[in-house]
Amino acid sequence: MAVSAEWRQQWIEAVSKIRSDLGYEKSAEQLRALQKTGLLKLTDLKNDPAKFFEAHRLLAHHAPKLGPGFWIRFTVHYNLFAGSVLAVGNDQQVARLNDFQQEGLLGCFGLTEKLAGVNSGGVVNTIAEWDDASREFVLTTSDAGAHKNWISQGLVGELAVVVADLRVAGKRCGAHAFLMELRKGGQPVPNVELGDMGRKTVGNDLDNAWIAFHGTRIPHSALLNRYGDVQPGNGGTYVSKAKGLTNMGMIGQRLFSGRVAVAWAALTFTRKLYEMTREYSDRKKCWAPKGTSNLTSVPQLNHLYARAEANLAQLERFVGECEAQLNDCLRKDQIPPASLQEAIACAKIAASEMSIDLCFRLKQDVGSHALMGDTGFEQMDFLQACKFAEGDSRILMQKLARDRVKAKATIGSSEEQQLTAELQAAMKSGSQAWDANFDKVYDLAWQVVTRNVGTLCPGVSLRIPCGLSKL
Ligand SMILES: Cc1cc2nc3c(=O)[nH]c(=O)nc-3n(C[C@H](O)[C@H](O)[C@H](O)COP(=O)(O)OP(=O)(O)OC[C@H]3O[C@@H](n4cnc5c(N)ncnc54)[C@H](O)[C@@H]3O)c2cc1C
Repeated sequence: MAVSAEWRQQWIEAVSKIRSDLGYEKSAEQLRALQKTGLLKLTDLKNDPAKFFEAHRLLAHHAPKLGPGFWIRFTVHYNLFAGSVLAVGNDQQVARLNDFQQEGLLGCFGLTEKLAGVNSGGVVNTIAEWDDASREFVLTTSDAGAHKNWISQGLVGELAVVVADLRVAGKRCGAHAFLMELRKGGQPVPNVELGDMGRKTVGNDLDNAWIAFHGTRIPHSALLNRYGDVQPGNGGTYVSKAKGLTNMGMIGQRLFSGRVAVAWAALTFTRKLYEMTREYSDRKKCWAPKGTSNLTSVPQLNHLYARAEANLAQLERFVGECEAQLNDCLRKDQIPPASLQEAIACAKIAASEMSIDLCFRLKQDVGSHALMGDTGFEQMDFLQACKFAEGDSRILMQKLARDRVKAKATIGSSEEQQLTAELQAAMKSGSQAWDANFDKVYDLAWQVVTRNVGTLCPGVSLRIPCGLSKL
């Protein structure tokens, strides 16, 4: 389903007014107003995913000017918060999204903890204990290491999807998501303690909170229970509703849409930064042996522009292909096949790492211009956020390499096969060989990335980006 030109124009106008210099409360007001326009529904991730991704892309056009704050606020609300409700909520819980939208309420997503989070594979230390007598869950943070941290929109949001380890009748049932009120009448609900994470290098129009739960009581209906529920009585019984599907596994589905959105954001930021810089370098005069020329025609910059264009065009086609396939799964409520999951991981790695590489190189070759405010270079940490959000490059690469070494099939270039064979042989001496050969692990992962990109979208070869180059 293509996005209409009329909708596109309306969205472009709506996001053109966003500012990043207003402080986080006013920044949040901008998101409340944007969602109240109804141009993008909290349910569009499932019903109209093409619109969901186009909205993210068009917002990312402003990233070199705005930085990452508002973009993160937006994607946390639409993808992580609303997306988790869509993924694991029952019909009534999903229906509440329309009310939240009309009332302009904002939600956050509380997974990461000081000592756990995406990188711990979804294992969390915040506990949700079922209290059968009151038919409530009691949220507790055992120690400071279990404080939720980096929670975007945590200082303003009225609502939160919180991931906690569910305990029923003394038994651990694993990480589950709970939809709860975080704030009422502007004040945190009882027994929730919140603090500010402090200043960041960029994106200070976004509030990031740490959160501690001190016996916070939430109702039975807070559990997002499409795949698993607690049956009250006799201390409570955990009931799994769909064989083979876990709540946490289904929340993990949001990472796929998040990865595609982040891949687009990185590429869009990079294209825009190159466009802005090109405007400057075309005008900037430079000495040349045969009279004056301009900065654009200096050989290293000229070649960099050509290379960036080729890399960006290829990656845009690749991410577009991943998006099209994912949209099909989202509309049909299907889990993406393993091949698409791998391609999406590759898209996220390639788009963020090539963007970091290309923007870093550009910065090295435009002289003092790169130090000026409002050139976009001051917002380059936008790409840093792309690198670790929704699955850090290194961690995704570890998984790609492990999967490749386990695979029996003979696939990929001779270099990929050679690296695979070397790692398989090394592993015979014990699991420590994996870390000892980390260079080969990342080389192999990059081979998998470039194979995935090249298979779907043949084109120029992607050289290993500077952020992943060898020590
Ligand atoms: C601006 C911002 C907004 C955020 N918003 C939210 C939010 O709304 N909700 C939420 O839940 N979280 C949020 N986060 C948290 C974010 O998801 C984490 O920061 C991210 O998962 C990385 O975790 P970390 O910073 O603890 O990195 P660490 O775990 O400390 O990792 C540091 C580095 O070590 C490497 N590394 C780590 N583990 C491995 C491994 N096993 N193998 C190889 N290399 C490894 C990686 O390169 C990684 O970059 C936000 C973070 C930021 C900065």
